[in-house]
Amino acid sequence: MGTFQIDFGESRKSKIVGIDLGTTNSLVAEMGLTGPRIVEDPEGRKISPSVVSLAEDGHLVAGEPARELLLTHPERTAYSVKRLMGRGVADIQEELKLFPFRVAEDSESVIKLKLGGRTFTPPEISAVILRQLKDNAEAALGVPVNEAVITVPAYFNDAQRQATKDAGRLASLEVLRLVNEPTAAALAYGLDKRNNGIIAVYDFGGGTFDISILRLHDGIFEVLATNGDTHLGGDDIDNLLLNIALEDVQSEWGEDLSGDSEGVQRLRRAVIRAKEELSFTPQAEIQLEYKGRRYHRAMDRALFERLIAPIVERTLEPCRACLADANIAPGQIEEVVLVGGSTRIPLVRAAVERLFKAKPHTELNPDEVVALGAAVQAGILAGDVEDKLLLDVTPLSLGIEIMGGVISKLIHRNSTIPASATETFTTAVDGQKNVLIHVLQGERELVKDCRSLARFDLKDIQPLPAGLARIEVRFLIDANGILNVTARDARTGKEQSVEVKPSYGLTEDQVEAMIRESFDKAEEDMRERQVREAQVEADNILAATEKAQRHQTWLALNNDERAAIDSAKRDLQNVYHSNDHHAINRNIEALNRATQNLAEQMMNTAVGSALKGTKID
Ligand code: ADP
Ligand code: MG
Repeated sequence: MGTFQIDFGESRKSKIVGIDLGTTNSLVAEMGLTGPRIVEDPEGRKISPSVVSLAEDGHLVAGEPARELLLTHPERTAYSVKRLMGRGVADIQEELKLFPFRVAEDSESVIKLKLGGRTFTPPEISAVILRQLKDNAEAALGVPVNEAVITVPAYFNDAQRQATKDAGRLASLEVLRLVNEPTAAALAYGLDKRNNGIIAVYDFGGGTFDISILRLHDGIFEVLATNGDTHLGGDDIDNLLLNIALEDVQSEWGEDLSGDSEGVQRLRRAVIRAKEELSFTPQAEIQLEYKGRRYHRAMDRALFERLIAPIVERTLEPCRACLADANIAPGQIEEVVLVGGSTRIPLVRAAVERLFKAKPHTELNPDEVVALGAAVQAGILAGDVEDKLLLDVTPLSLGIEIMGGVISKLIHRNSTIPASATETFTTAVDGQKNVLIHVLQGERELVKDCRSLARFDLKDIQPLPAGLARIEVRFLIDANGILNVTARDARTGKEQSVEVKPSYGLTEDQVEAMIRESFDKAEEDMRERQVREAQVEADNILAATEKAQRHQTWLALNNDERAAIDSAKRDLQNVYHSNDHHAINRNIEALNRATQNLAEQMMNTAVGSALKGTKID
């Protein structure tokens, strides 16, 4: 059943778009009435090069015009900026050797690219691309576009994801969700409609190769493993053909073109055109007309395939490693999705089919499929797509054991990953030197009903009275579902951590059973938890009272007051095991009231002696 929407003249309803912010190319898509579709720019182009240039007039331009400026003004033009997103200067020294544009020297930790005389951070550059896609979408759809779903590689870490969100914000786009590129590709093919299965997503783009193995269970995609090569893509094929063409030109023209940057860029375009044609025709021409001279060479597919075979072969090793990491045999892969323009090459398709023993999906354009999937996700968020599905989520809650044998959940079930949470805990015993961190998974309230994932000790924390130590516990689940738990003594900075894969050894049936049980036992569990929490509090106040009774102030109280405290203590001890948290809490209150005067007096003497101490000094 659909829903009716009556339009009361609210004609400019805004739209959420899906964006593939690629290393080489970027695209924007929307959820139309018949399904997702790519939004064209005013010139009718669907694919926009991820290139940004500082134009003569001081404006930043993106896309095709920027790619034109790469020919004539390489010193004011940036590309492949996705490689630099969310990374520090130290991480990318190797990477920078491959970039022609310079990094500003004054900044130590923040990467700044020099374009012309100005400097920009990678998110600022990416924002120019996003802004242009937003403008294109607004022009094509005739409505404001302020919100987007943006895709990122599955292996992107927190900082890289944050940088992508920053780029969105700088482009005045609220990023509602970051979706993993392989997940988006699977969504575009509607694979979430199947119930279960293992899916391989082979993404061979312009400059990068990524392989991901996903597991689909009940509409939830879990990234089992990812692998790839951050410097392997269509560019390598282009360089190989370019070198051949440069040699040809050298021998035909008697001139070395390699020092002429515009000449090289034009020849590069010529070989790319020929390469792309060869995916559809058995023969293509590499043609260049430059400074009044002509170069021409025919190439057939057989020769092309012989040349690129080693490059295609290089994608297979990461695939095998990924299968091994996911603990999956090639025969278990049920669906293979091809992503990235370079998967149009027939030799690539054949290699993938041979490796995974399954015919890959090729119905959608491989360079559009990620953006289309992002649009599907945008449609889901907008409520345009009826069936709700969950993406990249933790199937069960994660937390640690706290006093009373109960779990304190840091990351709740169905949180989208990557996810992180930090909470501060304290010690229960005076002078405590070690804390045991017990990592748990499950929906139940008591530790005994949850799954124990790991235990570790944070040793040698600063000994302090109970309740004063500050132990920060941080949970971080990365995009691969690996959970990292770190405990840190806030005072000394001492820390200890552990890594676990929460889904390891857990079947779907078990997950389901755990969730069902938590519903069945919800009431009982909650009661038990309330009792245990009340008992922990009772322990605390009883211990504090006994400590006070050994203090000199105790003797200064009158008999009635002492008797009242003793009787309140006894009452609390009597109901302690009653399984009635209301009664325990009532008696905690009563003991609190009875000891109020005692506590105040103790406080005064403590302050008094502290003051005396100051005076003596
Ligand atoms: P990215 O995800 O890295 O931004 P794309 O998925 O858009 O990149 O892939 C771009 C690469 O695909 C380029 O190297 C381009 O030359 C290549 N490509 C596009 N179409 C074809 C084709 N028909 N045959 C071979 N390669 C192609
Ligand atoms: Mg891509």
